[in-house]
Amino acid sequence: MTFYKIVLLLLFLSLSGCATNPVTGEKQLNLMSEDREMAMGDACYPVYTQSSNGLFQDKDLQSYVNQIGKSLAQKSHRPQLNYEFNVVNTSVINAYALPGGKISITRGLLGLMKNEDQLAGVLGHEIGHVSARHVAAGYTRSVLTNLGLSLLDTVMSAKEVKHREYYNTAAGLAANLIVMKYSRDQEREADALGMEYMVKAGYNPQGFVQSMQILQSLSQREPSKLEVMFQSHPMSLERIENAKSQIHSNFAALPLDTFQLDEFEKNTKYLKKVIPAYKQYDQAEELVKKEKFGEAVSLLKKALDIAPDEALIHTTLSAAYFAEKRYDEAMDEIESSLVIYPDLFVSRFLSGLILHTTNEFEESITQLKTADNLVCDNVNVVFYLGLNHEKLRDQETAARYYKRLLQLTNKGEKAVYAYQRLCEWGYVRGR
Ligand SMILES: [Zn+2]
Repeated sequence: MTFYKIVLLLLFLSLSGCATNPVTGEKQLNLMSEDREMAMGDACYPVYTQSSNGLFQDKDLQSYVNQIGKSLAQKSHRPQLNYEFNVVNTSVINAYALPGGKISITRGLLGLMKNEDQLAGVLGHEIGHVSARHVAAGYTRSVLTNLGLSLLDTVMSAKEVKHREYYNTAAGLAANLIVMKYSRDQEREADALGMEYMVKAGYNPQGFVQSMQILQSLSQREPSKLEVMFQSHPMSLERIENAKSQIHSNFAALPLDTFQLDEFEKNTKYLKKVIPAYKQYDQAEELVKKEKFGEAVSLLKKALDIAPDEALIHTTLSAAYFAEKRYDEAMDEIESSLVIYPDLFVSRFLSGLILHTTNEFEESITQLKTADNLVCDNVNVVFYLGLNHEKLRDQETAARYYKRLLQLTNKGEKAVYAYQRLCEWGYVRGR
């Protein structure tokens, strides 16, 4: 199912729903049914994950986080959902929940946490949003307000500068996503529910207060780092005070100064080891934006000395080489990346782009088809699939992709190109 279809489905559902709020027990208008909610979450999950650079490649850490999340979810008001928790590989500091119980924490946020109770605090808060059905209600609302926007129009003014297409595609993925915006009341409710679940699952609710304090103090030092997170979860000192007084009145009898450290330290060891590499990676991304590719290359090589197994760093290095037209080196790096992490969309797309540029059209098609399976209906992927077939003189298949492209967008140079080809080949009647 394409993202666009999901949006339409959701619009339809939003007009038809009325369901019971599991926390309050009240009937609430405009909530999706639970089945629909789960279906939407399942359908959106891969796109959200890919737009956050995929999963952080540490299986032990992933299962550790998943197990903590599930132990909290079992104590929630909606234990029956198919919860799934993961760590996505972006430096952006954030955590988010999709309808139906799919919850992600970013490498950037997890890297700030110091014990398991703090992590449980972040996950418990997100479960609180899912339990009180803020997520379903919020998505319904934002979809309605976003409907006028062309969600899939990622075509930028590409002047045949192919490296820009890579960066635009990578950035365009994220631009298509709906950002949740919770109200202050919803935040208050999720905070209270999260701490309740923490205590029931054996965690120290003080961990939640600590995690908020970490975010609060970071936002004073580097406000830009928390923009995304605070956009969806409004932050205030009042939230910290509320949490403290809830602990004081409800949980004062608990041992509030012991925290769970050992497993946390063991499982986050690799993540903490690669943090310095990602600091260099983040700086390299800034250099790329200024088109200083040579400097980016040397910084990314240093990052790989610290973290040679990070696929994303290999991919970004490949993109920098590609921008400098150093195609052999670009190919080596993207191959290294795909060996480590075969299912990262941006890597498959970049691989297809490099191969197209070096006239390896058949190999390019193989890579782009894999990309198309990972994130369906990306305009640039569909365009290059068509162009590769055209280069191979397979007009019929090329026309099929160009038609598909025009169903996705009618704007931009690629759409114009596809339309002109279809006219020339007699598939549509020209002006
Ligand atoms: Zn929140």
